[in-house]
Amino acid sequence: MNNLRAVAEVLLNSKRPLLCGHVMPDGDSLGSVLALGMALQSKGKEVTIVSTDPLPDLYEFLPGIKEVVVGSVPEKNYDLLVVVDCSVPERIGSTITPLLNSDLPVVVIDHHVNDQPFGNYNYVRPSAAATGEIIVDLLEMLEIAINLDLAINLYTAIVTDTGSFRYENTTPETHIKISKLLECGVPVSLLSNLIFGEQPLKSIRLLEAALSNLEVSDCGRIAWISIDRDKIEAIGAEDQHIEGLINYPRKIKGVELAISFRELDENRVKVSFRSKYTVDVNLLAKKFGGGGHIRASGCTTEGSLSEVREAILKEAKEIIRGC
Ligand code: 5GP
Ligand code: MN
Repeated sequence: MNNLRAVAEVLLNSKRPLLCGHVMPDGDSLGSVLALGMALQSKGKEVTIVSTDPLPDLYEFLPGIKEVVVGSVPEKNYDLLVVVDCSVPERIGSTITPLLNSDLPVVVIDHHVNDQPFGNYNYVRPSAAATGEIIVDLLEMLEIAINLDLAINLYTAIVTDTGSFRYENTTPETHIKISKLLECGVPVSLLSNLIFGEQPLKSIRLLEAALSNLEVSDCGRIAWISIDRDKIEAIGAEDQHIEGLINYPRKIKGVELAISFRELDENRVKVSFRSKYTVDVNLLAKKFGGGGHIRASGCTTEGSLSEVREAILKEAKEIIRGC
């Protein structure tokens, strides 16, 4: 079943839904979950939103973000778990996963490539550039008028997952939805500045460290950065400061596949993949237990930084002919 109307019915029938996005929350997961939370509140629901991981300071301008509970799930008599922008149970966050083994029905609303969604009710649309696009349709179905707060959350969801409408996932439908949001008065240049125009100093220091480790394959088609634990600790950086670093190897002319390797601990590495035109990085990440989209994906892989890097580069070079 992949029916948005059926999902809308389930949402309307719930009274006390618990909402969440994914670990290491990004603009789409936060904007989408906040917009959906507001919409359900306007329908008289007692909404709780939880994030296992801390929220990036960058998104503190999002309307309603102060209501998000960070860490443990408050004890309440929930009647529904609604997961947005997350395709696999491992990524909903350790404080929320135990609920998957309870009687609580689960709704998944997502845009990742996924033929086996884990909810009791699922709506998955990989052609949507962002989960925020699906939420726009859901609001229309629920006959909820979009106000400025909803529009800011949804605009942020879509503008971040499309890299300001520059990525391949951007469609005419994306722009049609954005035009509806702009009609509500979204302050575009202010949001552009808050989201893309400024960064904390720690992010720039981390960029400096990452670029000092930038490597390019002999064929010039693969570029990668590596960030070790010591560097992250020396800078005092957190997850939120790492976001976007992969765009630098991706920017190199001639590079098709960009990879970032981040040491989580002695035996685990977080890997991000981005491609430009041909490589299906969802398939590549899947080989290492991860997933995502065709042009943006990730995985967390066991092994030391150098072991993981070696294994993944071997696979990457096999995918890119002549490399
Ligand atoms: P990022 O590289 O920004 O962490 O993630 C890029 C995309 O890949 C996102 O859409 C994200 O949901 C997905 N992704 C990242 N890491 C993982 C992972 O470990 N497993 C899965 N299934 N998807 C991931
Ligand atoms: Mn997304």
